[in-house]
Amino acid sequence: MDYGSISRESVVVVGASLAGIRAAQRLRRDGFAGRLTLVGDEPHEPYDRPPLSKQLLAGEWDAGRTALVAADKLAELELDLRLGVRATALDQQARTVALDDGSNVGYDGLLIATGARARSLPGAGELTGVHVLRTLDDCLALRADLEAQPARVVVIGAGFIGAEVAATARERGLEVTMLEGLPQPMGRVLGDELGALMAEIHRERGVDVRCGVQVEALLGTDRVSGVRLADGTTIDAEVVVIGIGVIPNTEWLEGSGLTIDDGVVCDATCLAAPDITAAGDVARWPNELFGETMRVEHWDNAVEQGAVAARRLFVSETEAEPFTPAPWFWSDQFDCKIQLAGRAGPDDDAELITGSVEERRFAILYGRAGRLVGVFGMNRPRHVMQYRTRIAEGMSFPDALAIARDAS
Ligand code: FAD
Ligand code: NAP
Repeated sequence: MDYGSISRESVVVVGASLAGIRAAQRLRRDGFAGRLTLVGDEPHEPYDRPPLSKQLLAGEWDAGRTALVAADKLAELELDLRLGVRATALDQQARTVALDDGSNVGYDGLLIATGARARSLPGAGELTGVHVLRTLDDCLALRADLEAQPARVVVIGAGFIGAEVAATARERGLEVTMLEGLPQPMGRVLGDELGALMAEIHRERGVDVRCGVQVEALLGTDRVSGVRLADGTTIDAEVVVIGIGVIPNTEWLEGSGLTIDDGVVCDATCLAAPDITAAGDVARWPNELFGETMRVEHWDNAVEQGAVAARRLFVSETEAEPFTPAPWFWSDQFDCKIQLAGRAGPDDDAELITGSVEERRFAILYGRAGRLVGVFGMNRPRHVMQYRTRIAEGMSFPDALAIARDAS
């Protein structure tokens, strides 16, 4: 195997989801034959989250299809798999992780992949019919409520969860209201213009989109009956879905000596401390490609960083390379696949390079200080992938525009 100069007998990965399992797979693929422990607090074998707001919630898939690794391939990894067990503390001196079953597991190398959990609203836990969506169990509970044909579903937050759940629920034929504090859905990520386009797409398909509103209270006794807004309006609801962002799962690391600041703070190579790396939604690191410290909450980053953080445990300081991806996500809403790679902000130069907004099929490039920094595509996956590579290569904005002109 092309290990670096460090040898280890045991690696512990905490967090048995996307980043964690991809790290474990990478280690075995690279020939690591030592003890490999994977600890996860959910009872399920590693599964994929994107279908939870899409195919699984729509009723098109059953839960089994979300498995990240087939049972036989999981067995081949020869893991010491501890499911339904939560890590509660890290002792760097003793090199142990304490688990909530009372045991301690020792490590030579530790990879932290504990991801993030859904934020909620005060009072949400006291009312049935109110949901967050992060886990397989969350999805199955929400799906059961949607199958009961509620008269109205209210979605609070028009970020990724809100917009995807609103689309899926609407496609199930349900009446849906989506509430957002910002002027547009997904405005923080897409900016006002593209956010307005997403609002239009939802409205055209019958979603009642209300932006610039503040939720004041959830109404009901025992079961939710509605939502009250700060302006006094009430909206009846039999089901409410809260999609107002996530909190990184770092509480178990308090007092461990690691730096925690909205995630586990790492260096440019994903190292959090000697012998400890972090990956996925929980990791914050300086991405030298953009000169920006970031924590990325998307699928592709968990996959790539899981593998990089695994390898980082086996290479020395001098062999280690910085992790410099152009982050990328996709989101499926109705018949629109939107994708954004790189970083795009409201002050960037933006140029439409193909298609048109009217036909809902186009791509836009973003430039900053003469460099290509982002690409957005609606139903243009090939363009997004091509220009993502060019962002990672550090291509200039004029060169990228010239390529686009030649291709058209
Ligand atoms: P997580 O998936 O959060 O996994 C962390 C795991 O660690 C969890 O199982 C957690 O329970 C466990 N854990 C936490 N604390 C402990 C502890 N102390 N001890 C043991 N275990 C612990 N991204 C996209 O790019 N495109 C999409 O279309 C998309 N759709 C999504 C749809 C939904 C409904 C959700 C929720 C996310 C979606 N994402 C999507 C985001 C993507 O799924 C996440 O970025 C990805 O799951 C992050 O993986 P992770 O392994 O870092 O963290
Ligand atoms: P999100 O994308 O961060 O969006 C949260 C939205 O809720 C934001 O628009 C936010 O506005 C708003 N909000 C925050 N507090 C609110 C409040 N009190 N009342 C009303 N609105 C409020 O988070 P998410 O949609 O909950 O998604 C959760 C996680 O899953 C994220 O990590 C996301 O990346 C991931 N996910 C990804 C995908 C994908 O990539 N396709 C799909 C589903 C989920 P402000 O910005 O003003 O706070």
